[in-house]
Amino acid sequence: MRRKLIAANWKMYKTPEQAAQFMAAFLPRVSGHSRDEIVVCPPFVDLPQVVDLARDSNVAVGAQNLHWEKEGAYTGEVSAPMLKAVGCTHVIVGHSERRQHFGETDDWVNKKLKAALASGLTAIVCVGEVLEEREAGLTEDVLRRQCVNAFREISAEEGRRFTVAYEPVWAIGTGKTATPQLASEAHRVIRAEAAEAFGTEAAEALRILYGGSVKPENAKALMAEKEIDGALVGGASLSAESFAAIVKY
Ligand code: PEP
Repeated sequence: MRRKLIAANWKMYKTPEQAAQFMAAFLPRVSGHSRDEIVVCPPFVDLPQVVDLARDSNVAVGAQNLHWEKEGAYTGEVSAPMLKAVGCTHVIVGHSERRQHFGETDDWVNKKLKAALASGLTAIVCVGEVLEEREAGLTEDVLRRQCVNAFREISAEEGRRFTVAYEPVWAIGTGKTATPQLASEAHRVIRAEAAEAFGTEAAEALRILYGGSVKPENAKALMAEKEIDGALVGGASLSAESFAAIVKY
């Protein structure tokens, strides 16, 4: 049995003060909840405070991005050891908004995943097709390409130390959700690629989250799917009440 992971991606929302307000409202709502792993991924500037507030709780903290080098002349970037040093345990890699707006390539995703693994951060590697690709029948090809490239030169042992999120781009922030069946089909493609790269045992252990307009109203049906091992939640994770409701689907 794969334990589900429910992760919040706050994107570019919440000042440290707003983040603290969220934590004050959220932690009591999920206190004692042990069925699922819970992760909150705030913007960089909120991380030290959110880590502090989440200490000794059942909530882990992740970043939304990282650079693959440990340090260097990379203005505006943050490295894996820096994220570790402030107490992060997780990091989102290759989110479609980074691929779309910041030119993040499959090759960068691979480098970032390797950097996360080298530092002991659990990466949540995002893959997913855009609407035109789905409509052209290319979903499987896109997912295979993204996975093959992301998993390049990663060992079977390392294959057990990260998570994948299937996020169809047409479902992110649009209110359109993939049906549980459609998400499951995509998850099976990703798992098959993981089996190619890491062997069947590691692939069976790999958690594959679904992301794309997950809300309290649709979380239960999605989480009931055997293939769906959790959720990556954007918009609906900004309110403590709705994110807690998703955690407790
Ligand atoms: C996301 O940001 O990863 C996401 C899935 O966003 P939303 O839940 O708003 O669609």
